[in-house]
Amino acid sequence: MTLLRAAAATAARRGARSAELDLDRLRADFPALEREHDGRRQVYLDSAASSQTPRAVLDAMSRYYLEQRANVHRGDYALAFEATLAYEAARDRIARFLGAPDRRGVVFTRGTTEALNLVAHAWGRRHLGPGDEVLLTVAEHHSNLVPWQLAARARGATLRFLPLTEEGELDLSALDRLLTRRTRLLAVTGMSNVLGARVPLAALVSAARSVGARVLVDAAQLALHERIDLAGLGADFLALSGHKLLGPTGIGVLAARPERLEEMDPFLAGGEMVDDVTLEGATWNELPYRFEAGTPPIAEAIGLGAALDYLEGIGFAAIRAREAALTRHGLALLDAGRGVRLLGPRDPARRAPVFSFSVVDASGDPIHPHDLATLLGAEGVAVRAGHQCARPLLRELGLSAVTRASCAFYTSLAELDALAAAIDHARTFFSRPRARG
Ligand code: PLP
Repeated sequence: MTLLRAAAATAARRGARSAELDLDRLRADFPALEREHDGRRQVYLDSAASSQTPRAVLDAMSRYYLEQRANVHRGDYALAFEATLAYEAARDRIARFLGAPDRRGVVFTRGTTEALNLVAHAWGRRHLGPGDEVLLTVAEHHSNLVPWQLAARARGATLRFLPLTEEGELDLSALDRLLTRRTRLLAVTGMSNVLGARVPLAALVSAARSVGARVLVDAAQLALHERIDLAGLGADFLALSGHKLLGPTGIGVLAARPERLEEMDPFLAGGEMVDDVTLEGATWNELPYRFEAGTPPIAEAIGLGAALDYLEGIGFAAIRAREAALTRHGLALLDAGRGVRLLGPRDPARRAPVFSFSVVDASGDPIHPHDLATLLGAEGVAVRAGHQCARPLLRELGLSAVTRASCAFYTSLAELDALAAAIDHARTFFSRPRARG
């Protein structure tokens, strides 16, 4: 080997090592990833249900509890000022993260579910009427379906559904037929929690706007995988959950165009959301407080702000690169040769590393997803089994349940290898009684 080639090989080895080291260092920020199961490192493949939380988030929340603890927007003393500043700084942080043009459009909620219910209730019941239509997709999480069923029933409106292609992507060719002047709202997931498919949001938003429809994006899954630019996208509403975005539980966001919020009545009523109250009635506070009744989740909002700082410290370019590697690896491992039927697109560019699948055992018989997940869980591989809160989608696919292994940028390729090995073991394990019989 020439000196030059030897030097290049050493540099390449160092590069590979430092990439590996980066992941090790990154994973050290997430205490729960260090957990062991039966003497082995636990494999966490359930980030679509809840991502893990870096220490920086816990530190920010501890700081609030230990040093700034007070209610917000109420007290006339230093602690209360500090708490209020920290809470409102989190709102600014989220507005920046989402590219939201106006902080008055950033409403804290308990999560995506509450944010979607807020829109269905406060916008839907005001703006929908008989003959109006809401266009959803068959891939919606129950959180972006059931609230619209209730609103449509209350207002005499009709729900329509964009279908999927064979590959598990939205069938945009049906848009012309389904999106009409009767469509008042397009309410669509930014990324399905089952299929992991990327959604052509820009095309959907512009199609909806061309018929004068409002647009709501359920970004519960999307937000961890892709940079969101709300102003550029032009959507009217966007909902997300902190716990799926490295943040704490109990906090979510409804980001909306302020003019949409201005034309809505409050969803929850109580303290803070009012301007004046008499025994006979009330007038509403300014935005966004009109939609934040009662004491808000203060520590959780601060924690979410810290989560976004952490996420942006890593950067979406690096996140996309890591996720591309995870997606390619997952697609190579989860294939028919291993008895796996994977849902969603096979093209790595068209999906995130969220893998839902069914498995047949070594004799070709289906393994029930709950049996599979239980066996994997016993081996320290954490996945989710069931209908994934998307029963209509699974029905559409002829399934009642699937197993889902979902990654985030902190997932290692070795964790996907461990999943594949555990699936192999399960396939022999479940075919054993048959072989004996
Ligand atoms: N929408 C999607 C696509 C989801 O995946 C989820 C949760 O899994 C939700 C909405 C509801 O989120 P939350 O339970 O945090 O309110």
